[in-house]
Amino acid sequence: MTEYKKNILVSGGDGFIGSHLVEALSNLDYEIFVIDNNITSIPRNTNLNNVKHIKSSIEFLDLNEIPEIDIIFHLASIASPLVYKNDFNNVYGPNVLGTMKLIELSERDHARLIYSSTSEVYGMLSNEYINENQGIKEDSIARIHLLTERSIYASSKRMGEELIYHFKQRGGDAVNIRFFNVYGHGMDVVNTGYGRVIPNFINGILNEGKITIFGNGNQIRSFLWIDDAIEALITVMNYQGVLPDAVNLGNNEPISINDLAKILIILLNKKCSIIYEKIDRDDPLWRKPNIDLAEKLFNWKPKVSLIKGLQELIGGSKTKYPTNLFYLIDLLCNERCSKCSHWKYGKCKEVHDMKLIYNFINEIETLEEVCFVGG
Ligand code: UDP
Repeated sequence: MTEYKKNILVSGGDGFIGSHLVEALSNLDYEIFVIDNNITSIPRNTNLNNVKHIKSSIEFLDLNEIPEIDIIFHLASIASPLVYKNDFNNVYGPNVLGTMKLIELSERDHARLIYSSTSEVYGMLSNEYINENQGIKEDSIARIHLLTERSIYASSKRMGEELIYHFKQRGGDAVNIRFFNVYGHGMDVVNTGYGRVIPNFINGILNEGKITIFGNGNQIRSFLWIDDAIEALITVMNYQGVLPDAVNLGNNEPISINDLAKILIILLNKKCSIIYEKIDRDDPLWRKPNIDLAEKLFNWKPKVSLIKGLQELIGGSKTKYPTNLFYLIDLLCNERCSKCSHWKYGKCKEVHDMKLIYNFINEIETLEEVCFVGG
């Protein structure tokens, strides 16, 4: 008897989240079909025997070319505000027409359809409207500006969600996943990461000696490490019960963009100037997920703290990004120099958690500059 292998289709499988997912699935020995038009990505995982690449925009995919599929991940979409503002076809196309196409495939093969939506659908919700500790829940009322440069992305994702919702109403096995600011390796500045804050800052600090912060930098985000995101997607894929209409996937450890900049400057240990520019009217000022539903249903919660993720990101490619973590640890754990009042070098060995980092950041707020003696 021939062994039955699951067939999995991943739209946007060469993108940032997609390529990590494909790699993880290929290790689990599935047959994987990557559909990607490579507009904001390059082909990845091309050396894997159980991964087949089909170059196509998802909305124009010929379903006759596709064998019977068990699971569909719909991740194709442009995610960078800088890119999607100028390319509405490639936003509306995958999110609306592409979702319709994949609903057709899901109906044809009774395949589970996992649609990657975004926290952007909640719009300008802020802690004025939502309990700060609780975070944004799946049934929070969205607060949106209509017809702006940025609204095409959120609106098309919202429309994709509606399609999934109505498909479920007539018996479809599907879910809207709302990701909150996923980051990790492979989010390079030129391709998938273009415009996103973490790769932008790393590139600016390392290569340009300057970074740009939009607004006053007090806007809050909650960043999810890529491996946690992939683990969640695979858990959702394997979930035996009825999937919810929508579920948040994020890390509920919020940070301001100013603090993120400071941590990266310290971790990379480079002199860097910060330029402040006008913020987009639609740039949400506060975004923190409530992840109770994911925890309750899927027994999932993120394992990697922001500081661990950033360390991994920077240290993970040591040849490119020399990290000076020990210097940071020393700074965190030591006292100030009696002569210059800057921090002195020391011997402490471990960074325990974000609280320590936050305390440190609060401290350097009061200093004119950090003395980078560790160099
Ligand atoms: N941002 C910034 N400088 C940059 C890139 C982004 O200050 O070089 C800000 C951006 O305005 C936003 C936050 O960082 O407030 C997160 O931006 P990103 O594009 O990564 O994600 P999103 O806006 O989708 O949350």
